[in-house]
Amino acid sequence: MSPTPTTHRRGPVAERIRAAPTSATVRIADLAKTLKRSGVDVVDFSAGRAAEGTPDYICQAASEALLGGDTHQTMAQGKPEYRQACATKLLRENGIEADPETEIIASFGCKNGLALALLAVMDPGDEIIVEDPGFVSYAPTIQFFGGVPVPVPLRSEDDHRWREEELRAAVTDRTRAILFCSPHNPTGVVHRPEELDTIARVAEEHDLYVISDEIYERITWGGREHICIASRAGMAGRSITLMGLTKTASMGGWRIGFVYAPPPVVEAMVTLQQHLATCVGSFTQVGGAVAFGREPEAALTAMWQEWEERCEYMTRELDRLPGVQCGSPEGGFYGWADIRATGESSEELAERLLRDHHVALVPGSAFGPQGEGFLRITCVKSRADLEEGIRRLREALDR
Ligand code: PMP
Repeated sequence: MSPTPTTHRRGPVAERIRAAPTSATVRIADLAKTLKRSGVDVVDFSAGRAAEGTPDYICQAASEALLGGDTHQTMAQGKPEYRQACATKLLRENGIEADPETEIIASFGCKNGLALALLAVMDPGDEIIVEDPGFVSYAPTIQFFGGVPVPVPLRSEDDHRWREEELRAAVTDRTRAILFCSPHNPTGVVHRPEELDTIARVAEEHDLYVISDEIYERITWGGREHICIASRAGMAGRSITLMGLTKTASMGGWRIGFVYAPPPVVEAMVTLQQHLATCVGSFTQVGGAVAFGREPEAALTAMWQEWEERCEYMTRELDRLPGVQCGSPEGGFYGWADIRATGESSEELAERLLRDHHVALVPGSAFGPQGEGFLRITCVKSRADLEEGIRRLREALDR
């Protein structure tokens, strides 16, 4: 006999979580997995995950550490060797001289970096400016911690770039930070120096932090350069930079990244990490130190080259589909396909594609109202998946 369910006058869970949307990308990826388990051959372009696993030289370092007994907690801030590797990377690739003792903390990837950053600088009721469309987890994370996300549109007619006057108009006396992502998920835009300078100007004028999610920073296409906003003049003191290896080194399961921020912010994040999680995994930090600290080895650079080719192939093929327009991304993993000419909403089309054609991708509306009329497609799947996916999409759209 099953026990009588306990009821709670105030409901079983906190109000804070009741209103939170589930992550659309994770939900669709899970649905695709469930369909696959029941024998359906799904081509899955939903989650931002490459076909390749982590390069061997990184796995090797971590498994040697694991087998060698590196199985205990580390400092809450992260191993000194890991933080040194992160500082080495910042200097080599981003032109930033960071002090690994005071300006870097290890994180469980960028999501955890964001959570620590928000808890460190945001009081309840503070507003955080976010992008629309923007990464699905930003607004819920801000809300979990009592903040208020304030979306500012990135309009398709502006090539998904912020209008300075709209950014300015969003600032109030409760604004604490501008949170943005470059290369951008979902649109693939890489911020140009003048856009970074606009953000920097607004932040300086209104004394705001800039929280910069740079998870895709090592993968820009067409020779474009990623510029870290913290490296712009005067910005190191107000920038909180989130970096991770989930995407660029195919290390999503490792949960490893770091935050580069001014010393008082890092100090607060260390206190938070001590209580919330103790520290990031010991041997994952060893793998992370190799992935960040050493010059990227051929196994990594060849993968990036291959991804650029796949992104080019996939977006070209998407652009050829009836009713679809798709430019090539400037960086990151995704095709951002304009499907307005199909006459279907992004949710309707995404649902039809999964149900009838077994292709999983993410409706643009999941990223905010400005994402309506678009689909996000992960382009770094295997070539065979890309070809089969395009075949099915053509079948679905050739009606
Ligand atoms: N930020 C953005 C913009 C992302 O696309 C993702 C992954 N989908 C994350 C953060 C999550 O990063 P991590 O795995 O490092 O927590």
